[in-house]
Amino acid sequence: MKGGVITERDAEYCTIRTRIPAGIISVDQLRGIADIAEKYGIADIHLTTRQTIEIPHMDPARLDSISGDLAGNNTPIGSERDEVVNIISCPGKERCVFANIDTISLAKTLDGKVFGKEMPVKMRISISGCPNACTSPMLNEIGIIGRIEPLRAEGTCTGCGTCVEYCKESAITIKRGNSVIDPAKCVQCGTCVRSCPFDLLKSSGEHYLIMVGGRRGRHPKLGRELITVTTPEAAISVVQAVINWVYRRAWSGRLLSEQMDELRFEKFRDEIREQVPVSAMVEKKAEAGL
Ligand code: SF4
Ligand code: SF4
Ligand code: SF4
Repeated sequence: MKGGVITERDAEYCTIRTRIPAGIISVDQLRGIADIAEKYGIADIHLTTRQTIEIPHMDPARLDSISGDLAGNNTPIGSERDEVVNIISCPGKERCVFANIDTISLAKTLDGKVFGKEMPVKMRISISGCPNACTSPMLNEIGIIGRIEPLRAEGTCTGCGTCVEYCKESAITIKRGNSVIDPAKCVQCGTCVRSCPFDLLKSSGEHYLIMVGGRRGRHPKLGRELITVTTPEAAISVVQAVINWVYRRAWSGRLLSEQMDELRFEKFRDEIREQVPVSAMVEKKAEAGL
Protein backbone atom coordinates (compact mmCIF):
# COMPACT_ATOMS: atom_id res chain seq x y z
CA MET A 1 0.00 0.00 0.00
CA LYS A 2 2.96 2.30 0.70
CA GLY A 3 2.34 6.03 0.51
CA GLY A 4 -1.13 5.97 -1.02
CA VAL A 5 -2.71 5.67 2.43
CA ILE A 6 -2.81 9.09 4.07
CA THR A 7 -3.74 9.61 7.72
CA GLU A 8 -6.40 12.29 8.03
CA ARG A 9 -6.68 15.23 10.42
CA ASP A 10 -8.97 12.97 12.44
CA ALA A 11 -6.50 10.10 12.83
CA GLU A 12 -9.36 7.60 13.15
CA TYR A 13 -9.61 7.76 9.35
CA CYS A 14 -7.37 7.62 6.33
CA THR A 15 -7.65 8.74 2.72
CA ILE A 16 -6.91 6.28 -0.08
CA ARG A 17 -5.11 7.73 -3.10
CA THR A 18 -5.35 5.72 -6.32
CA ARG A 19 -2.88 5.19 -9.17
CA ILE A 20 -4.22 6.68 -12.40
CA PRO A 21 -1.41 7.52 -14.85
CA ALA A 22 -2.13 10.66 -16.90
CA GLY A 23 -5.53 10.84 -15.18
CA ILE A 24 -6.99 8.58 -17.86
CA ILE A 25 -9.64 6.23 -16.56
CA SER A 26 -12.30 4.18 -18.36
CA VAL A 27 -15.95 4.75 -17.58
CA ASP A 28 -16.09 1.21 -16.17
CA GLN A 29 -13.21 1.98 -13.79
CA LEU A 30 -14.91 5.24 -12.81
CA ARG A 31 -18.13 3.37 -12.08
CA GLY A 32 -16.07 0.79 -10.21
CA ILE A 33 -14.54 3.44 -7.94
CA ALA A 34 -18.01 4.85 -7.22
CA ASP A 35 -19.27 1.35 -6.38
CA ILE A 36 -16.26 0.69 -4.11
CA ALA A 37 -16.76 4.00 -2.31
CA GLU A 38 -20.44 3.21 -1.76
CA LYS A 39 -19.61 -0.29 -0.51
CA TYR A 40 -17.55 1.31 2.29
CA GLY A 41 -20.20 3.95 3.03
CA ILE A 42 -18.32 6.85 1.40
CA ALA A 43 -20.54 9.44 -0.31
CA ASP A 44 -17.91 11.80 -1.81
CA ILE A 45 -14.66 11.22 -3.63
CA HIS A 46 -11.93 13.76 -4.38
CA LEU A 47 -10.26 14.61 -7.72
CA THR A 48 -6.67 15.64 -6.94
CA THR A 49 -4.19 18.03 -8.53
CA ARG A 50 -2.08 15.02 -9.59
CA GLN A 51 -4.88 13.59 -11.71
CA THR A 52 -5.78 10.81 -9.28
CA ILE A 53 -8.94 10.03 -7.34
CA GLU A 54 -8.97 9.85 -3.55
CA ILE A 55 -11.48 8.02 -1.39
CA PRO A 56 -11.57 9.81 1.98
CA HIS A 57 -12.73 8.81 5.47
CA MET A 58 -11.76 5.13 5.29
CA ASP A 59 -11.58 2.97 8.37
CA PRO A 60 -7.90 1.78 8.53
CA ALA A 61 -9.13 -1.63 9.73
CA ARG A 62 -10.67 -2.19 6.29
CA LEU A 63 -7.54 -1.34 4.26
CA ASP A 64 -6.80 -4.88 3.14
CA SER A 65 -10.31 -5.26 1.82
CA ILE A 66 -10.45 -1.94 -0.10
CA SER A 67 -6.94 -2.51 -1.41
CA GLY A 68 -8.11 -5.76 -3.02
CA ASP A 69 -11.24 -4.11 -4.42
CA LEU A 70 -9.26 -1.23 -5.97
CA ALA A 71 -6.65 -3.58 -7.45
CA GLY A 72 -9.50 -5.65 -8.95
CA ASN A 73 -10.81 -2.44 -10.55
CA ASN A 74 -7.35 -1.78 -12.06
CA THR A 75 -7.12 1.47 -10.06
CA PRO A 76 -4.83 0.24 -7.27
CA ILE A 77 -3.66 2.21 -4.25
CA GLY A 78 -1.13 4.79 -5.43
CA SER A 79 1.77 6.56 -3.76
CA GLU A 80 2.37 9.82 -1.95
CA ARG A 81 5.53 9.64 0.15
CA ASP A 82 9.19 9.41 -0.95
CA GLU A 83 8.38 7.44 -4.07
CA VAL A 84 7.72 8.05 -7.74
CA VAL A 85 4.14 9.33 -7.46
CA ASN A 86 1.27 9.53 -9.97
CA ILE A 87 2.59 10.63 -13.37
CA ILE A 88 0.55 13.45 -14.88
CA SER A 89 0.19 14.68 -18.43
CA CYS A 90 -1.88 17.00 -20.59
CA PRO A 91 -4.00 15.50 -23.42
CA GLY A 92 -1.13 15.95 -25.89
CA LYS A 93 -1.46 14.78 -29.49
CA GLU A 94 -4.51 12.69 -28.68
CA ARG A 95 -6.65 15.85 -28.50
CA CYS A 96 -4.83 19.18 -28.33
CA VAL A 97 -4.15 21.19 -31.49
CA PHE A 98 -0.97 22.66 -29.98
CA ALA A 99 0.62 19.34 -29.01
CA ASN A 100 3.99 18.28 -30.40
CA ILE A 101 4.24 14.86 -28.69
CA ASP A 102 2.05 11.97 -27.55
CA THR A 103 1.98 12.71 -23.83
CA ILE A 104 -0.51 10.11 -22.65
CA SER A 105 1.25 7.05 -24.05
CA LEU A 106 4.55 8.42 -22.69
CA ALA A 107 3.00 8.85 -19.22
CA LYS A 108 1.55 5.33 -19.28
CA THR A 109 4.84 3.77 -20.41
CA LEU A 110 6.77 5.65 -17.73
CA ASP A 111 4.19 4.59 -15.13
CA GLY A 112 4.82 0.94 -16.01
CA LYS A 113 8.58 1.40 -15.61
CA VAL A 114 9.06 3.70 -12.62
CA PHE A 115 5.82 4.28 -10.68
CA GLY A 116 6.01 3.61 -6.95
CA LYS A 117 9.78 3.13 -6.78
CA GLU A 118 10.90 4.00 -3.25
CA MET A 119 13.29 6.95 -3.33
CA PRO A 120 15.21 9.15 -0.89
CA VAL A 121 12.99 12.05 -2.05
CA LYS A 122 9.54 12.37 -3.55
CA MET A 123 9.70 12.23 -7.36
CA ARG A 124 6.90 13.92 -9.30
CA ILE A 125 6.85 13.59 -13.09
CA SER A 126 4.78 15.85 -15.31
CA ILE A 127 4.50 15.87 -19.11
CA SER A 128 3.22 18.68 -21.35
CA GLY A 129 2.78 18.41 -25.08
CA CYS A 130 4.05 21.93 -25.84
CA PRO A 131 5.70 24.94 -24.16
CA ASN A 132 2.28 26.17 -22.99
CA ALA A 133 3.10 23.77 -20.16
CA CYS A 134 -0.47 23.25 -18.94
CA THR A 135 0.67 20.63 -16.38
CA SER A 136 3.52 22.84 -15.06
CA PRO A 137 6.33 20.36 -15.82
CA MET A 138 8.96 22.90 -14.76
CA LEU A 139 7.55 22.75 -11.21
CA ASN A 140 8.11 18.99 -10.84
CA GLU A 141 11.19 16.94 -9.95
CA ILE A 142 11.14 15.71 -13.57
CA GLY A 143 9.34 17.64 -16.28
CA ILE A 144 9.03 16.85 -19.98
CA ILE A 145 7.95 19.40 -22.59
CA GLY A 146 7.23 18.53 -26.24
CA ARG A 147 8.80 20.99 -28.66
CA ILE A 148 9.54 21.31 -32.35
CA GLU A 149 12.15 23.58 -33.82
CA PRO A 150 10.95 25.52 -36.89
CA LEU A 151 13.26 25.16 -39.89
CA ARG A 152 13.10 27.37 -42.95
CA ALA A 153 12.51 25.22 -46.05
CA GLU A 154 13.79 25.88 -49.55
CA GLY A 155 11.41 28.09 -51.48
CA THR A 156 10.33 31.65 -51.90
CA CYS A 157 8.78 33.29 -48.89
CA THR A 158 5.98 35.65 -49.94
CA GLY A 159 6.54 37.81 -46.87
CA CYS A 160 2.82 37.50 -46.14
CA GLY A 161 3.47 37.77 -42.39
CA THR A 162 1.05 35.01 -41.34
CA CYS A 163 3.75 33.32 -39.25
CA VAL A 164 4.61 36.69 -37.66
CA GLU A 165 0.98 37.07 -36.58
CA TYR A 166 0.84 33.57 -35.10
CA CYS A 167 4.11 33.77 -33.14
CA LYS A 168 3.30 34.86 -29.58
CA GLU A 169 6.99 35.38 -28.79
CA SER A 170 7.61 38.03 -31.50
CA ALA A 171 10.40 35.73 -32.67
CA ILE A 172 9.73 36.18 -36.40
CA THR A 173 10.34 39.28 -38.46
CA ILE A 174 10.13 39.94 -42.17
CA LYS A 175 13.43 41.16 -43.60
CA ARG A 176 13.70 41.99 -47.30
CA GLY A 177 10.49 40.03 -47.92
CA ASN A 178 11.65 36.90 -46.09
CA SER A 179 10.71 35.49 -42.70
CA VAL A 180 13.60 35.35 -40.22
CA ILE A 181 13.36 33.47 -36.92
CA ASP A 182 15.27 34.70 -33.87
CA PRO A 183 16.35 31.51 -32.03
CA ALA A 184 16.94 33.50 -28.83
CA LYS A 185 13.23 34.38 -28.65
CA CYS A 186 11.80 31.16 -30.10
CA VAL A 187 10.42 28.73 -27.49
CA GLN A 188 9.92 25.98 -30.11
CA CYS A 189 6.17 25.77 -29.79
CA GLY A 190 5.78 24.87 -33.47
CA THR A 191 2.79 27.16 -34.07
CA CYS A 192 4.43 28.95 -37.00
CA VAL A 193 5.09 25.61 -38.73
CA ARG A 194 1.37 24.93 -38.74
CA SER A 195 0.55 28.49 -39.80
CA CYS A 196 2.48 28.98 -43.05
CA PRO A 197 0.02 28.67 -45.95
CA PHE A 198 2.91 27.87 -48.31
CA ASP A 199 4.49 25.17 -46.14
CA LEU A 200 7.82 26.98 -45.99
CA LEU A 201 8.37 26.40 -42.28
CA LYS A 202 9.16 22.77 -41.50
CA SER A 203 9.31 20.83 -38.27
CA SER A 204 12.62 19.56 -36.94
CA GLY A 205 10.68 16.53 -35.68
CA GLU A 206 9.65 15.85 -32.10
CA HIS A 207 11.89 17.16 -29.35
CA TYR A 208 11.54 16.17 -25.69
CA LEU A 209 13.00 18.78 -23.33
CA ILE A 210 13.66 17.18 -19.95
CA MET A 211 13.95 19.36 -16.86
CA VAL A 212 14.90 18.33 -13.33
CA GLY A 213 14.70 19.76 -9.83
CA GLY A 214 11.53 21.86 -9.96
CA ARG A 215 9.03 22.12 -7.12
CA ARG A 216 5.75 23.73 -6.13
CA GLY A 217 4.84 24.45 -2.54
CA ARG A 218 5.82 27.27 -0.21
CA HIS A 219 9.09 28.02 -2.05
CA PRO A 220 8.39 27.24 -5.72
CA LYS A 221 11.39 26.66 -7.94
CA LEU A 222 11.76 26.12 -11.68
CA GLY A 223 13.49 22.95 -12.84
CA ARG A 224 16.77 23.15 -14.73
CA GLU A 225 17.12 22.11 -18.37
CA LEU A 226 18.93 18.78 -18.44
CA ILE A 227 18.78 17.54 -22.01
CA THR A 228 16.67 17.50 -25.18
CA VAL A 229 16.12 14.21 -27.00
CA THR A 230 14.36 13.25 -30.20
CA THR A 231 12.41 10.08 -29.38
CA PRO A 232 10.06 8.88 -26.64
CA GLU A 233 12.38 5.91 -26.09
CA ALA A 234 15.30 8.24 -25.39
CA ALA A 235 13.11 10.36 -23.07
CA ILE A 236 12.17 7.23 -21.12
CA SER A 237 15.83 6.19 -20.86
CA VAL A 238 16.77 9.64 -19.56
CA VAL A 239 14.00 9.57 -16.95
CA GLN A 240 15.15 6.13 -15.79
CA ALA A 241 18.76 7.33 -15.65
CA VAL A 242 17.73 10.39 -13.60
CA ILE A 243 15.74 8.23 -11.18
CA ASN A 244 18.63 5.79 -10.76
CA TRP A 245 21.04 8.67 -10.23
CA VAL A 246 18.82 10.35 -7.63
CA TYR A 247 18.25 6.97 -5.93
CA ARG A 248 22.01 6.53 -5.50
CA ARG A 249 23.11 10.11 -4.77
CA ALA A 250 20.30 12.09 -3.11
CA TRP A 251 19.47 11.86 0.56
CA SER A 252 16.20 11.95 2.50
CA GLY A 253 14.82 14.86 4.51
CA ARG A 254 15.15 17.57 1.84
CA LEU A 255 13.45 18.00 -1.51
CA LEU A 256 15.48 17.30 -4.65
CA SER A 257 15.22 20.98 -5.65
CA GLU A 258 17.10 21.94 -2.47
CA GLN A 259 19.86 19.43 -3.16
CA MET A 260 20.61 20.26 -6.80
CA ASP A 261 23.65 22.46 -6.11
CA GLU A 262 25.20 20.10 -3.57
CA LEU A 263 24.59 17.23 -5.98
CA ARG A 264 26.69 19.16 -8.53
CA PHE A 265 24.11 19.61 -11.26
CA GLU A 266 26.65 20.14 -14.08
CA LYS A 267 28.39 16.83 -13.32
CA PHE A 268 25.02 15.12 -13.06
CA ARG A 269 23.98 16.58 -16.43
CA ASP A 270 27.23 15.45 -18.08
CA GLU A 271 26.84 11.92 -16.69
CA ILE A 272 23.29 11.65 -18.04
CA ARG A 273 24.29 13.08 -21.44
CA GLU A 274 27.10 10.55 -21.80
CA GLN A 275 24.49 7.79 -21.72
CA VAL A 276 22.45 9.16 -24.64
CA PRO A 277 23.42 8.26 -28.23
CA VAL A 278 24.37 11.20 -30.49
CA SER A 279 21.49 10.36 -32.85
CA ALA A 280 18.89 10.88 -30.07
CA MET A 281 20.27 14.01 -28.42
CA VAL A 282 19.62 17.45 -29.89
CA GLU A 283 22.60 19.11 -28.16
CA LYS A 284 25.08 16.44 -29.28
CA LYS A 285 23.75 16.51 -32.84
CA ALA A 286 24.25 20.28 -32.92
CA GLU A 287 27.81 19.93 -31.56
CA ALA A 288 28.53 17.29 -34.21
CA GLY A 289 26.98 19.47 -36.91
CA LEU A 290 24.31 16.84 -37.72
S1 SF4 B 1 0.55 21.85 -22.76
FE1 SF4 B 1 0.23 22.33 -24.92
S2 SF4 B 1 -0.34 20.34 -25.82
FE2 SF4 B 1 -0.68 20.19 -23.62
S3 SF4 B 1 -2.83 20.77 -23.32
FE3 SF4 B 1 -1.57 22.59 -22.98
S4 SF4 B 1 -1.62 23.61 -24.97
FE4 SF4 B 1 -2.24 21.47 -25.34
S1 SF4 C 1 8.16 27.92 -32.94
FE1 SF4 C 1 6.74 29.22 -31.77
S2 SF4 C 1 8.04 30.70 -30.72
FE2 SF4 C 1 9.28 29.77 -32.33
S3 SF4 C 1 9.09 31.15 -34.06
FE3 SF4 C 1 7.53 29.56 -34.32
S4 SF4 C 1 5.67 30.39 -33.37
FE4 SF4 C 1 7.41 31.63 -32.67
S1 SF4 D 1 3.77 32.45 -43.38
FE1 SF4 D 1 5.20 31.40 -44.76
S2 SF4 D 1 5.15 32.60 -46.63
FE2 SF4 D 1 4.23 33.88 -45.05
S3 SF4 D 1 5.94 35.10 -44.22
FE3 SF4 D 1 5.82 33.28 -42.96
S4 SF4 D 1 7.25 31.80 -43.91
FE4 SF4 D 1 6.84 33.44 -45.44
